[in-house]
Formats: sequence, structure tokens, C-alpha cells
Amino acid sequence: MEIDCLFCRIVAGQIPATVVRETDTTLAFRDINPQAAVHVLVIPKEHYADVATLTQADPALAGDVLGTAAVVAETEGLLADGFRLIFNTGQFGGQEVFHAHAHVLGGEPLGPMRAR
Ligand code: AMP
Ligand code: ZN
Repeated sequence: MEIDCLFCRIVAGQIPATVVRETDTTLAFRDINPQAAVHVLVIPKEHYADVATLTQADPALAGDVLGTAAVVAETEGLLADGFRLIFNTGQFGGQEVFHAHAHVLGGEPLGPMRAR
């Protein structure tokens, strides 16, 4: 656990979150500032700064994050109409929390991938 990491503190139970799914290696919880009707974050319980670092260090754990994201998409009822899975990474990617996380977005049409 990284002492100053928000998502490590959620994993440790020090900050509350609305958890929708938990596995041995991953945690999924609702985003505090939802950008769509359904907005869930999926994280590895172990700390990695971003998805690139995570995937290089532990590809199986990266697979666990994708697997949990897929199950969340199903349990949130997103499979029929589709959904978006996003890993914001680094400065240009707009990453704000430096603990790897997938955004699962759906429940309504999401529009173009990028506003210009
Ligand atoms: P990113 O910009 O990809 O790093 O996304 C970070 C996300 O974390 C944002 O969508 C925030 O709304 C979300 N977030 C920040 N604090 C919390 C929190 N305490 N619980 C749930 N989501 C949070
Ligand atoms: Zn962390």
C-alpha cells in the first residue's frame, strides 16, 4: 500500500466507497463524480501507478482488472447496448489518481470518444 494513495486507502477501508464487486485481486466501486448513468472504477488491490506499469509488471493482474470490468459491465446491465472502458494514463491522458484504474462507463449513449 502507498501511504498517500487515495485508492490504496479505499482498498484498506480507510475511505468509504460504494463497492459493486470485489475479488481476491481487484475492487470495483462507483465513481464519486459520475460522468455517465453508470460509472464504475475497477482497480487492482495492489498499487501500480498506471495501466502501463501494471501490465508490464503483472500481466495476469491486468487481466484480472479486465475480467472484473467485464463482469461489472454484465451485472450493471451494459452488455446489450454497449459500454466504454477507459484507462486515463499520464498527463496527456488526464490521469488524476495515480493508482491504475479502469473506468466502466455506460447506461446511456456516450457520444464521440473525444471532444474537440
Ligand atoms: P482519472 O482522471 O482517470 O485519474 O480518474 C480518477 C477518478 O476518480 C475520477 O473520475 C474521480 O471522480 C474519481 N474519484 C476521486 N475520488 C474518488 C473517491 N473517493 N471515490 C470514488 N471515485 C473517486
Ligand atoms: Zn494505490
